[in-house]
Amino acid sequence: MWKILRISVLLLVLVVVAAGAWLDRKGSTSWKEPLWVGIYPISADGSPAADRYIDTLTDATFADIETFFEREGPRFKSDLSQPIHMVLYPRSSELPPGLPPAPGRLSVILWSLKLRWFASHASAVPGRAPPRVRLFVLYHDPQSLSAVPDSHGMQKGLIGVIHAFADKSMARTNNVVIAHELLHTLGATDKYVDGTGQPRDPDGLADPDQKPLYPQARAEIMGGRRALSETDAEIPDSLRDVVVGPQTAQEIHWTRP
Ligand SMILES: [Zn+2]
Repeated sequence: MWKILRISVLLLVLVVVAAGAWLDRKGSTSWKEPLWVGIYPISADGSPAADRYIDTLTDATFADIETFFEREGPRFKSDLSQPIHMVLYPRSSELPPGLPPAPGRLSVILWSLKLRWFASHASAVPGRAPPRVRLFVLYHDPQSLSAVPDSHGMQKGLIGVIHAFADKSMARTNNVVIAHELLHTLGATDKYVDGTGQPRDPDGLADPDQKPLYPQARAEIMGGRRALSETDAEIPDSLRDVVVGPQTAQEIHWTRP
């Protein structure tokens, strides 16, 4: 009797979790109305520079991400006028759980559960409706480190953790990273070579038919960088130099109605 009850409860939990994931997936890529994406700024290092920079953030800081989706969406799905709506939420004082170094399968699962728990309370703002996608942007003082840790976007839970530089001159590059991780939450996959970061030919290139192939004029958002040659690539300065490729478009269900 107990055994049956225990198994039934476990099965029920699994069904609820699976249904939640399915609903997230359906809801986030139906593209019937603008997808609400919330930015939660966090000071990564507690530095005065990060604090000061976070104080300057407004919705306008992230507006070129909206523009990027508005420009790219209709190329694949003609009835898309405003695919996403970016909203700045108040800063969160708590840091999200860090991914352990050299994580195994189990530690990644545990980390993603901890992250979902973190997101559920860190994103609650009294009097404001929660966004569909929650992006926690951790700002670092550029004086204290030359490269930020890796960012992550998770489809399960529609959560992103993005590491960015607390500097006005980096805002546009930060938006390239934010758009990349946002697309991960919607089901897009990476299109670069693991280890080198070199965009993959053909799906990681903005224009795989260009002749000569290199240097590419622009970058594909999930390829991450603009390929200068077969072995060299650079991070784009802004989303103006970035496109959504057909493979990425298909992954996020930007298909003709
Ligand atoms: Zn990625």
